[in-house]
Amino acid sequence: MNIRFLTAHLTRDLREIVHRARHNGAASAWTCARTHAANALLLAMAKFHRAPRVWCPCCGWAGYAFRAVDAEACVLYNSECPQCVSHERHRMTHLFLTARPPAFLKDGKRVLHFAPERHLRGFLDGPGALRCVSADLAPEKLRLVGGPAFRTDIQCLPLPDATWDGLVCIHVLEHVDDDRRAVDELRRILKPGGQALIMVPFGMHLERTAEYGRGHEIMFGHVRDYSPRDFSERLGGFHFEEIRPSALFTREEQRRYGIPDSEIIYLCTK
Ligand SMILES: [Zn+2]
Repeated sequence: MNIRFLTAHLTRDLREIVHRARHNGAASAWTCARTHAANALLLAMAKFHRAPRVWCPCCGWAGYAFRAVDAEACVLYNSECPQCVSHERHRMTHLFLTARPPAFLKDGKRVLHFAPERHLRGFLDGPGALRCVSADLAPEKLRLVGGPAFRTDIQCLPLPDATWDGLVCIHVLEHVDDDRRAVDELRRILKPGGQALIMVPFGMHLERTAEYGRGHEIMFGHVRDYSPRDFSERLGGFHFEEIRPSALFTREEQRRYGIPDSEIIYLCTK
């Protein structure tokens, strides 16, 4: 790393911090500064500590730690793979689908992938006759993965009843006004015996889910902050299995893959 590169990097970071201070306030600028400092420290540590400590199952990258992510309200440490940009949920799902592939990953099944993540397409676009279609409210998100896709609102799906074998819906429900209606729609379009893989971000400290009433300005536009203690109440009508990281990994494996306890998969069966 030469001095010119370092200076350019620092100048860019400082500009961003100042911009955040002016437009979003001191707390936001402080989060931004801590994120940049954490990632600079990671680069330095990687120089001195060459033995990998973490490993990304999505792309095979190994290193000292995953990058810190600026979440505006807080810093998410050890979160983002510097190579494939996978986050905790992608690594958790990748390992789960590898270890315990659901029935809908079998040949000939019809799978609808909401807010499609490219990290999972290796499973959903795999060989065989698996038919995967993507759906999102934002067309630009659909262009990231290609393949058959359509724009839709998950709360009001323009699809007939009982027509899909599998649904993948990861970090979507926290963005919609009426998540119970969205879950009803998921159940409606699934065939009997079909399965939906659902994940939401959890506030592990919350006793009850906190409703904001509208998209929170500094929480990625989330309409609510889910508690793992009451989330399953919203899955009414589904039989579901709650798969926690501790059911799949040892503590050492969780640390190696950068998967915290909050990454919980709900495998819901109609
Ligand atoms: Zn990766």
